Amino acid sequence: MADIVSSLLTAVTTLVQTYRAIRETLDTQQSKNAQVDLRSKFDEMERTIAEVQRAVKECTDALQLKPMMYYHGGCFWMKTGDAMVQGPYCPKCWEADQKSLHLINDEECWFCPQCRTTLTDVRTPEPSVLTHST
Ligand SMILES: [Zn+2]
Repeated sequence: MADIVSSLLTAVTTLVQTYRAIRETLDTQQSKNAQVDLRSKFDEMERTIAEVQRAVKECTDALQLKPMMYYHGGCFWMKTGDAMVQGPYCPKCWEADQKSLHLINDEECWFCPQCRTTLTDVRTPEPSVLTHST
């Protein structure tokens, strides 16, 4: 991932330098077209960098949460201390994408706002029962 970010930053730096060189040396229609083209490529690179940064953040967040996530009673719970449990979290979203999405209670069931997974019998566990099986 670091190699990708480094390559993108190098490409953006090259584009910026080229853009500035063209802008400073020529004032023809051809250079204006080249500036527009470079600007478009620069914008595309910025979007790609933003996507990579978002993906890195999601991976980092998931790695930080993973030791605290426990499967219990058909869903995931986050144990934040000896006496603290948060959740429930969607089992499908956590297992598929490591996204910790709270299930929403609508009186009759719990559902995931992202994937619409539905659970009917969700009970908050005691923190002491949440242990990782190895
Ligand atoms: Zn879900």
